[in-house]
Amino acid sequence: MNEATQLESKFPVPLRDKFHIPTFASMGIDPHNNDELTYLCGNSLGLMPREIRQAINRELDAWASRGVEGHFNHPSATDWVDVDLPVVPLLASVVGAKESEVAIMNSLTTNLNALLVAFYRPRGKKVQILFEKGSFPSDYYAFHEQSRLQGLNPQETLLQLEPRPNEHHLRTEDILKAIDDHRDTLALVCLPGIQYYTGQWLNIGEITKHAHRYGITVGWDLAHAVGNVPLQLHDWEVDFACWCSYKYLNSGPGAMGGAFVHEAHSAHTSMPRLAGWWGNNRQRRFAMLENFEPIEGALGFRQSNPSVIDVVSIHTSLQLFQMAGGVETLRARSLQLTNFLQRLLQSSKFYGKPRGFVIITPTHHTNDHGAQLSLLFDTTDIDEISQSIRAKGLIADERRPSVIRLAPAPLYNTFQEVYRTFEILEEALTEFTAH
Ligand SMILES: *Cc1c(COP(=O)(O)O)cnc(C)c1O
Repeated sequence: MNEATQLESKFPVPLRDKFHIPTFASMGIDPHNNDELTYLCGNSLGLMPREIRQAINRELDAWASRGVEGHFNHPSATDWVDVDLPVVPLLASVVGAKESEVAIMNSLTTNLNALLVAFYRPRGKKVQILFEKGSFPSDYYAFHEQSRLQGLNPQETLLQLEPRPNEHHLRTEDILKAIDDHRDTLALVCLPGIQYYTGQWLNIGEITKHAHRYGITVGWDLAHAVGNVPLQLHDWEVDFACWCSYKYLNSGPGAMGGAFVHEAHSAHTSMPRLAGWWGNNRQRRFAMLENFEPIEGALGFRQSNPSVIDVVSIHTSLQLFQMAGGVETLRARSLQLTNFLQRLLQSSKFYGKPRGFVIITPTHHTNDHGAQLSLLFDTTDIDEISQSIRAKGLIADERRPSVIRLAPAPLYNTFQEVYRTFEILEEALTEFTAH
């Protein structure tokens, strides 16, 4: 605990007071206990920035007082017609993109599907999509159905990589080799920036570069990477990417997603896509002409006018990232938090023991994992441990049958909380192994 206090004074939590932290009482665990819970679940749903309530209220007031005129004559903030534009530079800095390369639009799976329509262009023998076995099911369904929409057979087009026997994550060399082996039949490589289950951070730059040698398009699902680790999407020459905003970006349940389209593509307005009026030339959008003139850049991939309440939530939340010094600065503290958690867990008397647990997240290098550590328990019924840690005040994410994911978020979690996490797990496992 001493060490936690020392680390906390060396790497102080930047913006905890800007967030609502759930308590035992607010969570319904113990109505008389107003102590804060240890929330290590920001990889699943980030906590609520307090200022989002005012930001949303401002839009409700605008709607109440001005109705439709809020689109062009907002009483107190950006006109709704351009409400997402001030968010673009903030988002571009989070993902390492040029401003012209990012947009907030739709939601994650919808963006994946929209970008697959534009970027998955099977031709001749080049029809395959390389991705991972054990991918988030939404992504699998998208690849499967996109293949069928092209009149192809998913049995032939879906190429799934899996870790070697007795290993938990993919080796970069194996991914590169799979690309070499299938270079003549691959149309697309589409992988997660950070794998949601294991927490592995893939080498986005190297994999993208390798596939490009053979002219293969490369897309990334950044759900668990955005706001978690520094990204350089422009420099890595990623073709396209998409993400959600409710995990590390703290923008609220089901908040709109984001999309990246590299300028090498987005500058070409002739690129076929899923189209809508919001992607059309801003000056002529309301002329209602039968002439699709997409905006140059990622904004030209927007289809609908955005949900204003969503957009201001994302805006408010991204301002906190900026206030904290940006993702690079946060990452330095994040590594300290996660390292501390790792050291404590590995010192546990249950580590690697029967009915104990191991960490399956790769942690050999600073660039092979983000904030999250995934714990694999030696039990096929994780529910008992899960319920026990929750009752003791640790909110973590359970993945049946045997995994619990812990993710200290550098914006609001503290080293004391990491220590408390360790204590709670020790208590829970002491009880669990006693029967
Ligand atoms: C969280 C997550 C999703 C969720 O998709 P939504 O469209 O936002 O519901 C999809 N894919 C991955 C990899 C995720 O981590």
